[in-house]
Amino acid sequence: MRVWIDQDLCTGDGLCIDHCPDVFVLLEDGIAYVVEGRQPLNDPGGSESLAQVAPRNAVGVIHAAEACPGECIFLEADVIEADPSVVEVADLIDDLDDLIDEAAA
Ligand code: SF4
Repeated sequence: MRVWIDQDLCTGDGLCIDHCPDVFVLLEDGIAYVVEGRQPLNDPGGSESLAQVAPRNAVGVIHAAEACPGECIFLEADVIEADPSVVEVADLIDDLDDLIDEAAA
């Protein structure tokens, strides 16, 4: 999961930092930014500054997004490449389900 903040909407109340201080920071301008590897992503900020969220911080980041009064914390799911062998197994299960349905009819 990745996260970014629309700084144009941020109120600077700091609620996100209460929920997940590893991922959010308030800078001198009084606005929140995301952090990756302890580095604030404030250049340029916004949707061009996405931070990767470590699994241990995922719940805190989701809670921050839910609580954010500016509704300006945006989450993006990572795209996961499907494992071809898993897809084949899923196809086999579908085929078996079809056979069972046909046998029961
Ligand atoms: S909770 Fe939202 S509005 Fe408040 S400081 Fe964080 S990003 Fe800005």
